[in-house]
Amino acid sequence: MTTRWHPDTCECVLEYDNIINDQVINPKVIKKCSAHTSHSNDKVFDIVSNENRRKNFTLWEAQQIDPAIKIDDYHWRFDNERVLHIDFKNPITPTRKISLQGRLNTRFGMNKTIVE
Ligand SMILES: [Zn+2]
Repeated sequence: MTTRWHPDTCECVLEYDNIINDQVINPKVIKKCSAHTSHSNDKVFDIVSNENRRKNFTLWEAQQIDPAIKIDDYHWRFDNERVLHIDFKNPITPTRKISLQGRLNTRFGMNKTIVE
């Protein structure tokens, strides 16, 4: 069965038949958004998946630092360079912010996700 995926991180539309052991079966690009139009079709699925995972894992990392953070407290946006900028409804303490930024740099690389 084919699943159509409208990621919440961009306007691309993607399809796949299944995901088995983290392997996407028969990925297809139905529509590329303006942020991803310059990438070839065979790369877009991975790029969009990785951005979506980065957005989700960033919340998970934040919750390791401060378990009180709820999904509704989590604000995020990607800029034109596809850097993820995040903040929280109730700002986290400066110490936690430094700690979270360090974890995100380790996981995703420098300047990929910025805690505002
Ligand atoms: Zn896109």
